[in-house]
Amino acid sequence: MASSGSYRHSSSGAPSRLSTKIDKQNSGAYATPKASAKSRIPASPSTGAGFRRSSSGPLPAQPRASADAGAVPGRVRVAVRLRPRNSEELVADADFGDCVELQPELKRLKLRKNNWESETYEFDEVLTEFASQKRVYEVVAKPVVESVLEGYNGTIMAYGQTGTGKTFTLGRLGEEDTAARGIMVRAMEDILADVSLETDSVSVSYLQLYMETIQDLLDPANDNIAIVEDPKTGDVSLPTATLVEVRDQKSFVDLLRVGEAHRFAANTKLNTESSRSHAILMVNVRRAVKGRQDMDMGYRGENGHHTSSHSLRPPVVRKSKLVVVDLAGSERIDKSGSEGHTLEEAKSINLSLSALGKCINALAENSSHVPIRDSKLTRLLKDSFGGTARTSLVVTVGPSPRHRGETASTIMFGQRAMKVENMVKLKEEFDYKSLSRRLDIELDKLIAENERQRKYFEDEVERIRVEAQKRIAEAEKSCKIVLENEKTKYQQDYMESIKKLEEKWKVNQQSIEKSRAEQEIRTETKSDELLEVRNMLENEKNLRQSSQDEIIDLRNQVQHWKKLEESRGAEIVKLRKLLDTEASQKEKLEEEIAALKSHLLQLSVEAEETRRSLDRGASGKLFPGLDSLMSQANRNSQLRDPSNGPKPPVAKLSEQVGLQKILSLLESEDADVRVHAVKVVANLAAEEANQEKIVEAGGLTSLLTLLRSSEDETIRRVAAGALANLAMNQTNQDMIMAQGGVSLLSMTASDAEDPQTLRMVAGAIANLCGNDKLQARLRGEGGIKALLGMVKCGHPDVLAQVARGIANFAKCESRAATQGNTMERSLLIEDGALPWIVKNANNEAAPIRRHIELALCHLAQHEVNAKEIINEGALWELVRISRDCSREDIRLLAHRTLTSSPTLQAEMRRLRIEC
Ligand code: ADP
Ligand code: MG
Repeated sequence: MASSGSYRHSSSGAPSRLSTKIDKQNSGAYATPKASAKSRIPASPSTGAGFRRSSSGPLPAQPRASADAGAVPGRVRVAVRLRPRNSEELVADADFGDCVELQPELKRLKLRKNNWESETYEFDEVLTEFASQKRVYEVVAKPVVESVLEGYNGTIMAYGQTGTGKTFTLGRLGEEDTAARGIMVRAMEDILADVSLETDSVSVSYLQLYMETIQDLLDPANDNIAIVEDPKTGDVSLPTATLVEVRDQKSFVDLLRVGEAHRFAANTKLNTESSRSHAILMVNVRRAVKGRQDMDMGYRGENGHHTSSHSLRPPVVRKSKLVVVDLAGSERIDKSGSEGHTLEEAKSINLSLSALGKCINALAENSSHVPIRDSKLTRLLKDSFGGTARTSLVVTVGPSPRHRGETASTIMFGQRAMKVENMVKLKEEFDYKSLSRRLDIELDKLIAENERQRKYFEDEVERIRVEAQKRIAEAEKSCKIVLENEKTKYQQDYMESIKKLEEKWKVNQQSIEKSRAEQEIRTETKSDELLEVRNMLENEKNLRQSSQDEIIDLRNQVQHWKKLEESRGAEIVKLRKLLDTEASQKEKLEEEIAALKSHLLQLSVEAEETRRSLDRGASGKLFPGLDSLMSQANRNSQLRDPSNGPKPPVAKLSEQVGLQKILSLLESEDADVRVHAVKVVANLAAEEANQEKIVEAGGLTSLLTLLRSSEDETIRRVAAGALANLAMNQTNQDMIMAQGGVSLLSMTASDAEDPQTLRMVAGAIANLCGNDKLQARLRGEGGIKALLGMVKCGHPDVLAQVARGIANFAKCESRAATQGNTMERSLLIEDGALPWIVKNANNEAAPIRRHIELALCHLAQHEVNAKEIINEGALWELVRISRDCSREDIRLLAHRTLTSSPTLQAEMRRLRIEC
């Protein structure tokens, strides 16, 4: 819909005189929203904000409003209309010119002050006395109507002195002459032409405001209508006013006519003129927003039903309101009440209009307070000035110079109104009622569909049930037949098997009979056999009993023999001991025999020599009485303690014969002589007094030579015995060592088989073991090894010497350690003496035992040996010694040794041995 006309306006907004510069560039077309430019202006903060400030800046073009658009600025449009001179004026003012002169092409109005002076005002539209009603409608009202049809609120008002054509402009019905139709009729024509009567609705109220009372022109009885203001939106409404829906032009015109008639009647009744009241036509337009509603309504799912999310969206409707106000005459009522009104009445009559004037002034001047609430008119028109409505004001003036003052006042009102800026806003809302209706329809459809489906479902269930029953019956029938057949078959089978069983039973019965007879025969023979077996068993039993008795007898005998054997064993041991004693006695006797032989030899030598000397004349009798002495000496045993008693005969012999002579005999060619000589030397060496002399005379060297070179074991045995005697002296010990005596002794020991030889050798080495200074050398030359080597012969005498040697050696080591020398591990242990020591520690021979016990105590006194002592099991022997040794000194020594060694203590704790 194109713009029907355009207002032109002053940029300054202030009443402009000719001298005022007019900015034409800023003159915008009074366009409909559809034809608006693109520019958008920020939204107004509130729909019901009420009167807005005036605009002093250039007026922007009207933008197209959209559903979601905010408010857009829209200045109140003001047109001025000049009424032609009426018949009276034509006469009365015949000699005068009009008080106004119009320049419609410049949209200016000149107000003559006098013949030579005038003031010029610019309006949005200047309508001359020739302007047709159609043109007036198009420039003043049509843009507003179009705006209303778009969804904006709109206001069209006429302001002016009574008789200047307000009602002519707005309210002419034009029934006789359609060209005369006023704005109300034409607006409705346009509205009805544009709306769809199916989706949209148009309804009207028609009211009169007089003395601050609102009367319903469509229902005169309703003569005090309240203004209701929505507290949220600030929108004002008249809920009690009659609202008539208009569906065609004729009914609307009828309504207007009825309203006009009621207005007249009311004014007659109130004794007033219509010019003192305000007539208000309210046209409510409610339109569905087609595009979006169609979209919403049009969306359907595949099954033709609305999808829930879309169908639940209510349609959008635009609600707009066109208010056409035919204001009361702008002329003041005389305060004197010349028109027949009291002062209070005059105040009340003037109240609304003067309040409107004040509000417009306030808005035009941007005053902080706009007195909207001062009157009902300003409250009703809240939206029209400074609100959200698009507002057009037509100010009507007459040409008569007589009313110049009123005309000027009207013009100034219009000028001020031009400054008022509104913020037009689209009023859209969701149509929940419509949605509800639509949903009801949907619901009905769904219920119907549901019922249809339920019915179908029930039918289906019934059909399936019948089908199933039919099938069950068939199945039962076939099953019955099959069962019958099976039964018959099984019965036949059963009968047959019974028959067979009976036959088998018969056969069995016969065979049982037969076998029973056989059994009877067999039983008889069996009983004889049984008797026999029983007898045999009885015999067997008797036999077993007798053999058991025999076993017991035998056992007793074995027991007896064992006892006999044991007593015989003891006897054998006793006999063995006797035998040993006999043997040693025999040996001693043999030695004595040997000595006697030697004596005899000596005597025979002597006799020989005596004989020879007698032969030579009794000269050279060097050793008279030697044989007798020798025989005497040989009667004494070797190695005899020489300390006490009178000098032995051997000593006498050496004194008498001379030691040198005896020693020289050791190297005699005759073996027997050598034997006797060595025996003599040995006897001499047994006496401490002779030992030094023997050594000084070279006896030691001779003895060692014999030991090295002699093949004769007796000589070696006696020489070793002599060495043993000599080795009791420390000086001699040194010499023996120096001349390699230990090696010779060791060698002798390894070659010897005679326990007595070994006893001599062991005794010699044992004596050497008692020398502190010779320990290392003695060991180095194999002394200890030699001692240990001799134990294998097992003779107690040998073992006793070995034990003595070991004890001596251990004692010397111990002494060296207590004198502060660093103690290495014992050389005895190094040479492997410990196992033998442990083995013989509890030897039944007391001399062996005592020496070994002492040796063990000495070894254990030193921590270096402790580990080995534990490893070889010597600890147990020490513990035993500390507990059981019969000699108190050894026992105490063992105890002290055990308690002073941390290592042994730790081991004892570990083994939980109490000491
Ligand atoms: P108001 O409503 O302002 O009091 P009216 O509309 O009643 O004035 O007009 C007064 C008289 O002037 C009426 O008889 C009307 O027909 C006449 N009149 C008003 N305006 C015009 C006009 N433009 N052309 C012809 N007659 C007019
Ligand atoms: Mg009128």
